[in-house]
Amino acid sequence: MVQAIAFKGGDERVVLVALDNCEVSHAFIAPAVQELSAKHNLRPGALVVVSSHTHSAPVLEHTLTSMYNLSPADEEQIHKYSAFLKLKLAEAVGAALADLKPARLEHGVGRATFAMNRRVYNGDRIDFGENPDGPVDRYVPVLKVLGTNGAVRAILFGYACHGTSIAGEDFYIVSGDYMAYARQHLEAHYPGATAIYLTGMGADSNPSPRGTLLDAKRHGLELAGAVAGVLGHPMRQVQGALKLAYDEAELPFADPPPREQIEKDSKDGDVYTRNRATSSLKLLDAGKPLPASMKLPLAAIRVGDALTFVVMGGEDVVDYGRRFKRIFAADHPWLIGYAYEIPCYIPSVRILKEGGYEAQSSLIYYGVYGPFRASIEGILVKKMSELVGKVRNQ
Ligand SMILES: [Zn+2]
Repeated sequence: MVQAIAFKGGDERVVLVALDNCEVSHAFIAPAVQELSAKHNLRPGALVVVSSHTHSAPVLEHTLTSMYNLSPADEEQIHKYSAFLKLKLAEAVGAALADLKPARLEHGVGRATFAMNRRVYNGDRIDFGENPDGPVDRYVPVLKVLGTNGAVRAILFGYACHGTSIAGEDFYIVSGDYMAYARQHLEAHYPGATAIYLTGMGADSNPSPRGTLLDAKRHGLELAGAVAGVLGHPMRQVQGALKLAYDEAELPFADPPPREQIEKDSKDGDVYTRNRATSSLKLLDAGKPLPASMKLPLAAIRVGDALTFVVMGGEDVVDYGRRFKRIFAADHPWLIGYAYEIPCYIPSVRILKEGGYEAQSSLIYYGVYGPFRASIEGILVKKMSELVGKVRNQ
C-alpha cells in the first residue's frame, strides 16, 4: 500500500507519502523522488516518503541487499515488484496534488502503551529482549483533516515503534502489521476518511507482546483506539502558513578497521559479515576509500502555529524523539522517522557508548563499517534546531 497527502499553503507545497514497506535506500528511492519532484515542480525535501517499517512486506531493490542471499529468479521478482511500487508511488503523488481542496486541520495527541524498549543489559552485553525500564515514546500524534463541508477527509497518526508485532511462525505472512490494522479500524469508524500512518522515532522499541498475527491485530486495535480517543475530544485548530526547511547532515564514522581485519571478516562464518567484507574489499581494490561519513536528510515542516513536523531519515532511536520533543516543545512537534531514505540506524550518544545492535551490529546488514562517532547526536540536534528555527513564525 502506498498513500499520499498533499498540503498547500501560499506558495509552499509538501507531499507526505506513507509507504507500507520496511524501508527504502537512497539507491531505490532517489531516482523516483527526483523524477516526481521535477514533474510536479516540488522543492527539495517537499516529497517526504515515510516507510512504515513493517517487516512483513516484499523486499525492494537495492535495499538491505546484504541481508538476503537471492537467486536470479528472486532478483527478477524483486525487480518487478519494485517497478510496480514506483508506479503506484507516482500515481498516489499525482492524485494527491490533483485533489488539493480547502481544508480545516485539527491536531491532538493520545497515548498507546504497547511500545517496549528492546535493549536488555546482560553484563556488558546488550541483547534483544524486553526492557520495561528502558526509554520509549508512547505518544500518538493525530491530525484530523476536514473538508469545508465538515466531513473528515483524512486522519494522520503516528507511533514510535518497530513494525514487528508479527514474528515467530507467522513471520512469512505479507502484512502491513499493526499500522495497517489501525488504519483499517479508523477507516471503518470514519467512513470516507483515509487513515495514514506516519512512523515515529522508536527504532529501539518493539511491540509487546509480539510473535503472531493476532498480536498485530490487537496492537492495531489499541492504536486505533488511541487515535479515536483523540478524535472524539476537542482538538487544537491548526491555522496559518505552511513552511518547509530541508537539509542533509553529514554523519562521520569512526576510522574503518585495517584491511587485515576486513580480509579476516571476508572468511567469517557469518554470511552477512562476509558480504559486508567482500563489498568493502571491492571498494578498496578499486582504489576507493571506505565511506568516512553518511548523509542523512532532515526537515522541519511547520503548519501554522500549532504543528511542526520534525522529520528525519534513518532508523532513529527513541532518544532523538524524546530530545526533540523536549527542545521543540513550544513548536508542537510531531516526530517522523524513517523519512526520505534509510541509510542505517541512527544511534544516540548513549547507545553508541553502550553498544549493541543499533550502534554496531546492525551496520553489517547495511553493508558498512562503523560505528558512527559520538558527535552525530550533536550534529543532528544542531541541524534540526536550525531547520525548526527557520520555519518558526516570527
Ligand atoms: Zn528496524
